[in-house]
Amino acid sequence: MAKRILALCLLALLLTGCAAPTVQTKQTIYEASFLSLFDTVTVVKGPAESKAAFDEVARTVQEDLTHYHQLFDVYNSYEGLNNLKTVNDMAGVAPVKVEKVVIDLLKDCRSYYELSGGKVNVAMGGVLKLWHDARSAGINDPANAKLPDMADLQAAAEHSSFDAVVIDEVTSTVYITDPLVQLDVGAVAKGWAAQRVAEKMPANMLLSVGGNVCATGPKTKNGDPWVIGVQNPEGAGDSYLHTLYVTGGSYVTSGDYQRAYVVEGKLYHHIIDPNTLMPSAYWRSVTVVCDDSGLADALSTALFVLPREEGQKLLDECGAMAMWVDSQGGTYYSPGFEEIIRT
Ligand code: AMP
Ligand code: MG
Repeated sequence: MAKRILALCLLALLLTGCAAPTVQTKQTIYEASFLSLFDTVTVVKGPAESKAAFDEVARTVQEDLTHYHQLFDVYNSYEGLNNLKTVNDMAGVAPVKVEKVVIDLLKDCRSYYELSGGKVNVAMGGVLKLWHDARSAGINDPANAKLPDMADLQAAAEHSSFDAVVIDEVTSTVYITDPLVQLDVGAVAKGWAAQRVAEKMPANMLLSVGGNVCATGPKTKNGDPWVIGVQNPEGAGDSYLHTLYVTGGSYVTSGDYQRAYVVEGKLYHHIIDPNTLMPSAYWRSVTVVCDDSGLADALSTALFVLPREEGQKLLDECGAMAMWVDSQGGTYYSPGFEEIIRT
């Protein structure tokens, strides 16, 4: 875990280009990073009038992300807070009063579910937990790594209908009517939270939450772009397939290298096709570019479990762009994507 965090940290630092602070002609670029939120590394960087002013921005980002992290956590409880674990624990028992943010997230999850034809389904937490537990056990004890049992996966999939999630905006409650349906918002939470946080940040800054990158404008007031890297799925954290120019919007990658384990010599990753209940086999990585980071995160997961033509239809509907990488290292670009490639 520590090794992974360190690798992510290095990636994030490289990804956003340079060490802090970097003095330019007229502005200093500051940078802060913190670990432990959303099980990944967060980097904030950008210009500010002073270090104190930048530190204040970074502190607010950390505070807000910590709150989102706790609200969307399905594994841990926090004193005095009803989060998604509370909602899961109360499935089939009673509605749970939650903050409006949780209502807003789940409403967006429902629209991502409909948009993707059920491919991005945060109500398949039961299936995802079986993969999560098998992966954790396999990483801790590689010699005995096992796949989840298919009969168990199928039984869990019987209880993965988003219709069981009743969102009541008037009472600000969420009720899972089926006691066996469980939520897991891992496919969208980082991007969704990053979007809300970025909307409150000053212009010309870059926020990366585990590779979910949001830019609040170009790097300089003159319009010079930020440069970010897209990881090479073969490169284990320190090599890039491309570097991209970024002047605003959001850049999100789903990759089979992000969370995976090996069973009998074969890699099994964390993005599950709801039809097969197995890790999707189409792609090694998909990078999505669009204005909204929550949507970009949902689309990166959706495109990962779809053939390219169907993914392109989704992109067209959403006004987004993408790059796909297949298992032979082949790269494919949606219209417009190549224009933002730097190298
Ligand atoms: P991402 O890296 O954004 O593609 O999200 C991957 C995470 O989303 C996984 O770790 C799971 O928690 C969850 N997930 C995997 N497959 C799906 C799916 N088909 N629908 C919804 N969530 C999923
Ligand atoms: Mg995603």
